[in-house]
Amino acid sequence: MSTPKMSVPFIDLTAQRLPIAAEINAAIARVLDSNAYILGEDVRLFEEEFAVYCETKYAVSVDSGTSALELALRAYGIGPGDEVITVANTFIATTFAITYTGAQVVLVDVDPYTYTMDVNALQQAITARTKAIIPVHLYGQPANMDPILDIARKHNLIVIEDACQAHGARYKGKRAGSMGHAAAFSFYPAKNLGAVGDGGMIVTNDETTAHKLRMLRNYGQSAKYHHDSMGYNHRLDTLQAAVLRVKLPYLDQWNDARRKHAEHYTQLLGGNGVLLPVTAHYAEPVWHLYVIHVDARDELQKMLASKGISTVMHYPIPIHLQPAYQHLGYTRGSFPVTERSVDRLLSLPMYAELTSEQIEYVAAAIKEFQVEHQANLVHSS
Ligand SMILES: *Cc1c(COP(=O)(O)O)cnc(C)c1O
Repeated sequence: MSTPKMSVPFIDLTAQRLPIAAEINAAIARVLDSNAYILGEDVRLFEEEFAVYCETKYAVSVDSGTSALELALRAYGIGPGDEVITVANTFIATTFAITYTGAQVVLVDVDPYTYTMDVNALQQAITARTKAIIPVHLYGQPANMDPILDIARKHNLIVIEDACQAHGARYKGKRAGSMGHAAAFSFYPAKNLGAVGDGGMIVTNDETTAHKLRMLRNYGQSAKYHHDSMGYNHRLDTLQAAVLRVKLPYLDQWNDARRKHAEHYTQLLGGNGVLLPVTAHYAEPVWHLYVIHVDARDELQKMLASKGISTVMHYPIPIHLQPAYQHLGYTRGSFPVTERSVDRLLSLPMYAELTSEQIEYVAAAIKEFQVEHQANLVHSS
């Protein structure tokens, strides 16, 4: 096989860091000099700045998106005996966070166009034990929040947005994270806003919840060695907060670049037997991922790899078919939209620094594959 003409990584953290390396290095040096590694000034300032960005009153930082989801549920008293509804098509952290609290995971399928929570399925999944709903703003596109919030109001349920892939997205003009009782964000390095390690945030407009979260993440302390409640060590490092403060002012321009890349992919890939991502009328997505659906997905992925193009599946096995969740009692066939999607989905390279040439190279490779593949299908039939 000949050497690829071009290399297109799935993401490129070096390309993101190099233009701001001096700023990041200075921020890290400042924290090292301060010795205030835990709950330092940068943590408080980053929380303030991120709350402003999300158009919420409060933001409480934690050590991961998973912790953000878990503590948000705990702050609302969710635990054993409660049911929490979320989607079968998500990263496993969404459901692990529910399981950590002792509550029961209840799954629903996703909408076949947006791959976010199917609102009718949600309505049908509610029981007397349901306490909370976790809609996931998957791939950076907000879930259809208005009907979800209506159902929640009617049944007196807590809504925790999983906004771990949706920093900066909007739903009918409102920021992802600003619509539910609380929302969880992740700063895993590959997210739209990424730390140089793990990090997370809970945003909320509720002062009582924000206060509870500050206690929960820090050993239940109201003051040093005064433990008013059960708590955890789930704090965000000052170092991570300092790096995230450098990056936050760039987030909108990075999201704009992702939007342009998504439009470019869509424009080049239309037709060709490739199912492209659909943007709902209510959504301003931030394109954490650009996910296509094709019939011969595994062959396409191999062919792209041979041309130096890296792709990923988000996610290859749905929650209900993971060995970790066999005890939930779901089977193949429980969530047909999710199951059909996982065999066909493929996430293309997506990051702000992607070039037009790279996008054109990826699109040309996909078109070439589709033409050959469709010709083979005709030939073999
Ligand atoms: C990344 C992610 C999480 C978990 O965040 P971590 O920071 O990795 O713990 C949760 N839910 C979704 C949808 C995610 O993409």
